[in-house]
Amino acid sequence: MAFCPKPGSVFVFDLDGTVYLGDAAIPGAVQFINSLIQKGYGVILFSNNSSRSVSEVQKKLSRMGLEATAEQIVLSSHVAAAALQKLQPGKRCYALANPNLELILREQNIALTDDPKCADYVLLGFDTTLTYRKLQDAAMLLDSGKPYYATHPDINCPTADGFMPDTGAMIALLEVSTGRKPDLVFGKPELSTVEFICAKTDQPKECLIFIGDRLETDIAIGRNGVQTILVYTGITTPEIYAGSSIQADLAVQTLADITL
Ligand SMILES: [Mg+2]
Repeated sequence: MAFCPKPGSVFVFDLDGTVYLGDAAIPGAVQFINSLIQKGYGVILFSNNSSRSVSEVQKKLSRMGLEATAEQIVLSSHVAAAALQKLQPGKRCYALANPNLELILREQNIALTDDPKCADYVLLGFDTTLTYRKLQDAAMLLDSGKPYYATHPDINCPTADGFMPDTGAMIALLEVSTGRKPDLVFGKPELSTVEFICAKTDQPKECLIFIGDRLETDIAIGRNGVQTILVYTGITTPEIYAGSSIQADLAVQTLADITL
C-alpha cells in the first residue's frame, strides 16, 4: 500500500505487537524502520511500558538488527517526568515504580520519597515491584486528596505466556478502593505524548505518524491531530477493527506492506 509522508515526517513506532512479539522481531518491521532512517525520516520508538529501561529496549532492538540511539527510544516514563517537572516543581513524589522508572524520574530531577507522610503527590507507573504496602500508602494519599497521576492507561501487558496486569488495571483497583481516577494519565493516546515528541523532534504534530497495533492507545492518539497507521501484527484483528469507532488513516497487515 502506497503512503506518501511529508518531508520532515517523524514515524513514532509502538514496540510490542508492532516491532516485536516477545523476543522475536515481527517479519519486515526492522527492515521497514531501517529504510525510513536511510531515507532521512525521523524515527522514534515509543512504548507506554513504564517498567522498562532505555538500555534494555536498545539492546533488544540491537539483537534484532535495529541500531537505535538512546534518543530515539521514548517511554511513557519520559512524558510523565517532563510533565511532572512543570506540574509539581520541587514537590515530592510517592511513585509506584520499579527501579527502571525510578531512575528515569531521578534523571529528570523528580524528588522521590517512599515515606507517604512526606509525599506531595502520587505517580502510578507499571510497578513490577508492587507491594501491598505501596498500594495501601497510595490509597491513603489518594483518600487525603493528594494529586494523582498515572504513566499510561494500558490494562494488560502482553507477555510470552499471555499477559500480565498493567497500570490501567491498577488504576481500576485504586478507583474501586478510593473512588478516585488519576487527575492526568500520560503516554499514548494523550496529548502530552504528542507535545513531548513535537518538542523532542522540533516538528509540528502534523508531521507525526503513529504506528501501532492497539486501537485505544496507538490509533486513538489520532484525535490529537497526528496521523496513525494500524498494523494487524499485534492484538487488533481486521474483525475487531471493522467493529471499532476508532479509525486509523491507514490499516495494513504488516509494516512490510507499506511502500514509500
Ligand atoms: Mg503494542
